[in-house]
Parts: sequence; structure tokens; C-alpha cells
Amino acid sequence: METLVNNNSVFIQLAQYEHEQVVFCQDKQAGLKAIIAIHNTVLGPAAGGTRMWAYNNEADALHDVLRLSRGMTFKNAISGLNLGGGKAVIIGDARTQKTETLFRSFGKFVESLNGKYITAEDVGISTADIEYIAMQTQHVAGKPEYMGGSGDPSPVTAYGVYMGMKAAAKKAYGSDSLQGKRILVQGVGHVGSYLVGHLVKENTKVFISDFYEDRAKEVAQKYKVEVIDKESVYDLDVDIYSPCALGATLNDNTLAKLKCSIVAGAANNQLEDEKRHGDMCKERNILYAPDFLINAGGIINVYYEIVGNYSRERVNKHAERIYDYTQNIFATAETDNINTHQAALQLALKRIEEMGRLKMSR
Ligand code: NAD
Repeated sequence: METLVNNNSVFIQLAQYEHEQVVFCQDKQAGLKAIIAIHNTVLGPAAGGTRMWAYNNEADALHDVLRLSRGMTFKNAISGLNLGGGKAVIIGDARTQKTETLFRSFGKFVESLNGKYITAEDVGISTADIEYIAMQTQHVAGKPEYMGGSGDPSPVTAYGVYMGMKAAAKKAYGSDSLQGKRILVQGVGHVGSYLVGHLVKENTKVFISDFYEDRAKEVAQKYKVEVIDKESVYDLDVDIYSPCALGATLNDNTLAKLKCSIVAGAANNQLEDEKRHGDMCKERNILYAPDFLINAGGIINVYYEIVGNYSRERVNKHAERIYDYTQNIFATAETDNINTHQAALQLALKRIEEMGRLKMSR
């Protein structure tokens, strides 16, 4: 008989990342292939956006959704939200393969989970797509403002990243002013472009790169910043590297080249290997602002839509606290002599454990 368990086994991966449930969604007529991953629901329903991406293969899509949903558990926990961690991926090209049927079909799958998973935007998904999903399920946030939703979460995400970056500057340079700093923003999509907006106001020298040249040109013209070829990103002499595209850009290759003193960006799962590359940052005196801590603005925005009584003022106040949270993590990392990612993880796990215990008690 064929051996069913190997290193790529779905169940081995679920066990490794400690997932509760993973749902494979397929609707041939709608052209839908999606995966919903529910990582942990101790703090509340699993919440996290849906990503649409043209993955090279299905194994990559599974790997991505497992890592992203796990990250959401820690992000929601460390930000003080009563939400668990989940995420979804739709396999497909967001520029050419979007249809109403695709998103409504996906919405039906979300609805079938009865609120155990709440979706929202992520890479490749706009508020217009969310509108279609919302036609089929009530378990969706980040709805357009005219539908009573909180709208695009990216501006709040960018604001939170900016707060985290300033906290890192305070730690590394003794002042949270970014004036005169050379900052590279990799990926100028929704979040990256709003972040550039904050940075240029502080008289920084901003460099940008994007997978799509037309997008990079558009942002460069709007903010009068310099476009860098995406291949030379890691060779550029900068103070701050801000990954705002996809994950795993902190790895053996890039860390050997990077010349920055701070990494602070919006991308999820920036460390290819959390322990190894977190330690490498520490050894190389690169202050890493943990991704799941500083990019929480978007989920904070969505959270207030989910719990009701949404107000942008309330959301911004909460996102502003990312500055203090980040400083706190840097202090813990120093005291405990651990890398900053570990320090953030430690705090998130502590809250999950304590709230889990509280849930079980009378
Ligand atoms: P987006 O799709 O709007 O933008 C991503 C941009 O990165 C695109 O313009 C894309 O062309 C570019 N890109 C992709 N690969 C690249 C590469 N190798 N080099 C340069 N550019 C590249 O996505 P977004 O909403 O701005 O999110 C950016 C990152 O932040 C993602 O990792 C996302 O998971 C994370 N994030 C987003 C939010 C949010 O509120 N949107 C919240 C938390 C985390």
C-alpha cells in the first residue's frame, strides 16, 4: 500500500503550524480554487483577509495560507483584539481572473463556516470584490463605506507601519524623527503607497520599487520619489528597508546584502525562517520591527467594523498605540536577550494562554 504520510502531507503541515481547520473550496464553473485556513479561535472567530495570487502551484498556496493564518492569530492577540487567526487564498491572477461569480462563490464557502471565519481584503482584493463576497455572506468586513463598512483598511495599516517605523527610529537613532533618512519601500500597492505619503511629509529620501513598472511610475510621479529596479533593492544603501510586497524577503541571501539599520514594513511573514532570520537580524544590528505587530492597523480597522460603533478616530487612536507596543517589544527583546520577533511572539502567546484559561474558568 502507498505510504500516505510524507513531509508535504497536509496533516503534517497542519500539525506543525497547529491549525484547527483547513477548508479547500472548489467551484469549477465559477473558476474558483480557494483555501480557507482557521488557525486558532481561542480569542474569538478567526479573522483575516483573503489574498488572490497566481501561485506557481497548489502546495505554495497551501503553505502561504497556513503561514498567513498563523500570523493573524499572533497579530490579533498582540493588538488586544478579541479575534482568532484565519486567512484565505484564492488561486488566480487578480489582474485578469476576477469575476462576480468567482467572488460570490467564495462568499458562499465563507458563509458555510457560520461565522467561525470572518474575511476581509488582502493582496489582490479590493472593496469592490468584498461587495460581491458580502452578497453571499454576512461574515465579511472591510466593506465599502457606503455599505456601512470600514472601507479600505490600507490607510490604517500604513499609519500603523509608520508608527512602528518611528518607534524603531527612536530605538536605533535616539529620535523618532525620520527627517533625512533614506528609506526604501518595496511594493507600492495599497499600503506601500499610503506609507510613502506619510514618509515624504517628513522630508525623507524615499526610494520605491514595484513588480509592476506602471504602478511604480504612477506613485513616483505622485510623490516625487525615485524608482529603483526591483533586482537591485537589496544592494541599495539605505537606513530603513520597508518590505510592503510579499513575505520571506528576510532570508540568507538578502540579509547578507542588506545595509539598513531598521526593517519596518507591512508585508506579512517577512522572516523566511522566524528563529534563524530573526537571530540574523539581531546579530547584524538590524532592528527588526515585527511584521505582525506593526502591520495590525488594517485588522484593527476591520475589528471596529465587526464589533460595531465604528469610528475612524477610535481606529486611529488604537493604531497609534502601535508606537508604544513596538517600543515595549524592543525593551523586552533587550532584557530577555532574544530577537524582536521572539519577543512579540512571546507576548501574543501569553495573551492567548491567559484568555484561554479565563474562558475555561467559571
Ligand atoms: P497590494 O497588492 O495592493 O500591493 C502589493 C504590491 O507589491 C503590488 O503593487 C505588487 O505589484 C508589488 N509586488 C509584488 N511582488 C513584488 C516584488 N517582488 N518586488 C516589488 N514589488 C512587488 O497589497 P497591499 O494591500 O498593499 O499589501 C502589501 C503587503 O502588506 C502584503 O504582504 C499584505 O499581506 C500586507 N498587509 C496588508 C494589509 C492591508 O491593509 N492591505 C494589512 C496587513 C498586511
